[in-house]
Amino acid sequence: MDKKEALMRFGGVIFVLGGLALIFFSGEFGSIEEITAQDKLAEFMLRAGFGSLLIGLLALFLFSVKTVPKELMDPLIQTEGQNLARIFEGLELKGNGIYIPPGGRLTEDRVYIPAELKPLPLPKLASEQVLVVGTTGPSMGASIIPPGKGMIDRIELDSGKKFKDENLMDISEALERLTKGTGLIGSITARSKDDDINLEITHSRFADVCNKAWKEDPSLHLKVGCPGCSSVLCAVSRISHSPIRIVNSEKIGKKVLYELERW
Ligand SMILES: [Zn+2]
Repeated sequence: MDKKEALMRFGGVIFVLGGLALIFFSGEFGSIEEITAQDKLAEFMLRAGFGSLLIGLLALFLFSVKTVPKELMDPLIQTEGQNLARIFEGLELKGNGIYIPPGGRLTEDRVYIPAELKPLPLPKLASEQVLVVGTTGPSMGASIIPPGKGMIDRIELDSGKKFKDENLMDISEALERLTKGTGLIGSITARSKDDDINLEITHSRFADVCNKAWKEDPSLHLKVGCPGCSSVLCAVSRISHSPIRIVNSEKIGKKVLYELERW
């Protein structure tokens, strides 16, 4: 929620409460014997009360219609995943994805999907590159913007804290901004030892999108992940200040498990 929305919501609540108070206390002044100044005051309070109530409800209502309902948002997110899976298949990219945080010639995050299945050194990437055709076959691949990047940028903007300023030792705590902080993801457990990082993600808001991606394109989670999983991977690579290669990903029950290594 940005400042403008928060202010509007707060104002809405104040107007609603003020309106209810005016309507309630207007009864205190009324009398049935004769029309007095008090009656006029009561009438004024009643009118002002209803007016205030209306303004308050309108402010709250206007705020709520600004958000896109889940039934509309999910198909939009799903289409992005479906398109990526098609592109990877069409380009015959077989390797697992490597998340790269901004730095060097990259002005923003990228996920690199190599053509080859076997793990090979990462080619030097620049922001403008999409299809990487190296001088040798093994360094070919595609470099795209992670689907979850926008969400991570937004969380950083709202919280005023950058993931790159966090410590890999406190990775679980840092990732709480995606769970307890925003309620976007149910829970994330992260364990880091040497260069290996293990993640356990339980989705809430993105559960349907993630499930569908696993059903339709099981390899998508090895290459970039659904937008929800991608946002977690994007945050992990920013926290670790290094490229993060997806070693394996599987879905067990409601949990998405990720085996990652710093590359
Ligand atoms: Zn997922």
